[in-house]
Amino acid sequence: MSQDVTCVHAMPDRLFRGMPAIWAGGQYVIWNGLRNCTYTAQNLDVAGLETGIPDIHSSTRKIYSDSQRRNWLNVVLVLTNRCNLSCRYCYAQPNKYMNEEMTPRRVESVLEWCLGQASVGRLYVSFVGGEPTLKPECIEAAVNLMRDSGHPHSFHITTNGTCEIEFLDWLIDQHFDFSVSSDGLPADHDVQRPFSDLARSSPHVERFMLYLAKRGALFQVRATVTKHNVGRLPQALEYWASLGVEFVHFELVGNLGMARNHSHLPDLETYVTLFPKMLDTAQRLGIYLVNSAFMKLLTPSHSFCTSTQGGRLHFNSDGSISGCYKIQRAQGAPDGFILGQASQTGLNVDEQARSRLRRFGASYHHECGSCFARNVCGGGCPLDQVLYGYSGQTDRKLCNVKRSLLREAILHIHECSRRGTPSIVFGSSVYDVRVEAKFEQPESKEVDSHEFGETGTECGENGRIAAAQG
Ligand code: SF4
Ligand code: SF4
Repeated sequence: MSQDVTCVHAMPDRLFRGMPAIWAGGQYVIWNGLRNCTYTAQNLDVAGLETGIPDIHSSTRKIYSDSQRRNWLNVVLVLTNRCNLSCRYCYAQPNKYMNEEMTPRRVESVLEWCLGQASVGRLYVSFVGGEPTLKPECIEAAVNLMRDSGHPHSFHITTNGTCEIEFLDWLIDQHFDFSVSSDGLPADHDVQRPFSDLARSSPHVERFMLYLAKRGALFQVRATVTKHNVGRLPQALEYWASLGVEFVHFELVGNLGMARNHSHLPDLETYVTLFPKMLDTAQRLGIYLVNSAFMKLLTPSHSFCTSTQGGRLHFNSDGSISGCYKIQRAQGAPDGFILGQASQTGLNVDEQARSRLRRFGASYHHECGSCFARNVCGGGCPLDQVLYGYSGQTDRKLCNVKRSLLREAILHIHECSRRGTPSIVFGSSVYDVRVEAKFEQPESKEVDSHEFGETGTECGENGRIAAAQG
C-alpha cells in the first residue's frame, strides 16, 4: 500500500539543542524534557535561550542507570502460543505451535535463574502469549515462587480480557497490573477481535474492564488502530471513560503476521487529522494517553525500546530468550534478536548479543540525525528497523505520522501549561509512577463479583455506547 501523509509543518520544526522546537503561531514552542516545561521563542538564535535550555547531549539522563544500579530485572514470560480469539491483524501465528507451552516447572526455573543473578534488587514479571490466562497453572507457580522467595516483586499481564471473573479476582489480589486489549466501540472491537468461532468478545472485555475499575486495579487499555476503527477513536475514548478506564495506549497496527504488507493500515491522513480531537476529548474526560510518538517526552533518549536496550528479557515457550516480545520463537527469528536458550544445565544468556542489540536507536538511520523528533522518538522500534529498513531508510509516511503526533502533543502541553492544567499526554510516565507505587504499597478495593451478573448485561450497545456513537 502506498500512502503518504502531508507533514505541512515539517520544514520549520527543528531540533534545538537536542529537543523539539515546534513552529506555531509565529513562534517556536520548545519542549524541554529534562525540565518538564515548554519555552517560546521567535528565533532560535536568541542568546538567552542558549543559557536557559541545557543541551540534552550534555545532560542526557541515563534512563536505565537507576534500575541497573539497583539491579532491577524486568522479565517477560511468553506462556503459550494458544489464543481463544482470532484477531484480524494478529502479529503472531496463534495456535500454530500448540506443542510449545511453558510448564510450571519451566516458569520456576526461569524465575530461580533470575533471582540467582548477582544481588537482584527486585523483579517485575510480565505474562504474555498467545493468551496467558489460558495457562493459570504457570501464573500460579510464578506467584507462589516469588512470594516464597521474599524478594520484592510485582506482576503485570497482557490479556485479551476474556478470562473468568474468579481468576481475574485472584490476579487482582496478587497485585497484578493489566494491559487489556480493547479496540474501541464494541462493534469495532468485535470486527477486529472476535472469538475463534467468530462470536463477539466485547461483552467479556467490557465486563473485565468494569471489574478492574471497580476494584481499583491498575490497568491500561491497549488499542490497535486499523483502517476499520480509525474514524471512531474519539468516540472510543468516551466509551472507555464510561467503563472507568484511566489509561489508553493506542498504536497503529504493525506490519507483521496477518497485518503484513500494511494490509490493515488505516488512512493516515484521517488518523493524524483526528488526533487533536482525541487530545481534547481525553483531556476533557481525564484519560491519560500513551503512544510511541510521545511516550518518552519526560525520558528523552537516543533509543526507543526498553527491551533492546537491555532493560527486559523475554523467555519464550520454545526455550529461547529474545530481546523483543514479538519474537516468540528462535526459528525464523530476525538476526540478533535471540539472546539465549534454556538448556539441560540452565539458562544461557549471550551478553554479547544483548549488547549488540543496543546499537539500535536514532543513530541507526541517517534521516533521524536532524529530525526534530529524534530524542523523543529515539528512532522508533528496532524490530521495524531490522525487518523493514531494507534500504537503510526510515519509512517516511510513518515518520511523518510520528512527527505530526509529537507536534500536536507538545502544542497541547504548552496550551495546558498556559491554562495551569496538567496535560494528559504524559500517560506513560504517570503509569510508570503507579507501577512504582505498587512495589511500595499494593492494595485494591474489595467488591462482590456477583454485582456484575452475566456477561455484557451491564453495558450493552443500547445505553452508553449508542450515546457515544452519536
Ligand atoms: S524514526 Fe523517523 S520520526 Fe523517528 S527520529 Fe527517525 S526520522 Fe524522526
Ligand atoms: S523491538 Fe519494537 S516491538 Fe520489540 S519490544 Fe522493542 S519497540 Fe517493542
